[in-house]
Amino acid sequence: MTQAEPLVSKPSVVAIRDLHKSFGALEVLKGISFEAREGEVVSLIGSSGSGKSTLLRCINMLEVPDQGSVSIDAEEIRLRGRPPHRQIADEHQIRRIRSELGMVFQSFNLWAHLSILDNVMEAPLVVQKRPRAEVEAEALAMLAKVGIAEKAHAYPNQLSGGQQQRAAIARALCINPRVMLFDEPTSALDPELEVEVLRVIKLLADEGRTMILVTHDMEFARSVSDRVIFLHQGLIEEEGTPDQVFGATRSARLKQFLNAAS
Ligand code: ADP
Ligand code: MG
Repeated sequence: MTQAEPLVSKPSVVAIRDLHKSFGALEVLKGISFEAREGEVVSLIGSSGSGKSTLLRCINMLEVPDQGSVSIDAEEIRLRGRPPHRQIADEHQIRRIRSELGMVFQSFNLWAHLSILDNVMEAPLVVQKRPRAEVEAEALAMLAKVGIAEKAHAYPNQLSGGQQQRAAIARALCINPRVMLFDEPTSALDPELEVEVLRVIKLLADEGRTMILVTHDMEFARSVSDRVIFLHQGLIEEEGTPDQVFGATRSARLKQFLNAAS
């Protein structure tokens, strides 16, 4: 991403401090801290089971961390109680904050009984209670942006996996989120369908959207990210610019991971 202003002077959109999360005896996150600043694309890489999805799910509190905090636009998400019973303290707050987070998963999670257009319009109409005409115009513009305008009135099962994932991205964009969170958005797709989804994500990066992206595609991470974070066994093992992480790798574990991934 090219930006005149250095990212470090931009406000923090997502700030994670000392996050810990266990499932029973399995300690998955062992103290993770990082920030995504406005306009920054942060990629999370690491082997399967290293805690990438859990970390992403803690940002929107689909998983409640045992310890540590998550702040969105400098507002800390309020939690109460002690592990393993720590829980969301303020339902109002979390609903408001979740509406600032656009989440795209590996599985597309579109409603099968709704047209693509209705899928995209659902949250702005039902959750945000915005006027239909305005939402429809915006939804059609989002579908055009991701390259599937002609599929607005089709149903999910009439679309390819790549088209469904692009519809899911349009749906996430339509709530006008402060940050987009992607969890391996192309890992369920055939390689030829992957390309079109990656192109859309790159477009969003170039527009200056704040994004946190879990990906297994190192070439893509290198091309799209401002910062890359390598997770290993629940800790940040190495982080830096793509050139630092991929071009001047320090950690032996990361070297091993990159060798295996290539
Ligand atoms: P990654 O996305 O890096 O592959 P995950 O965050 O999905 O890793 O998982 C990290 C570890 O936590 C794995 O060992 C996984 O089996 C375990 N795990 C994830 N979610 C749960 C859960 N809800 N209950 C129990 N174990 C889980
Ligand atoms: Mg995962």
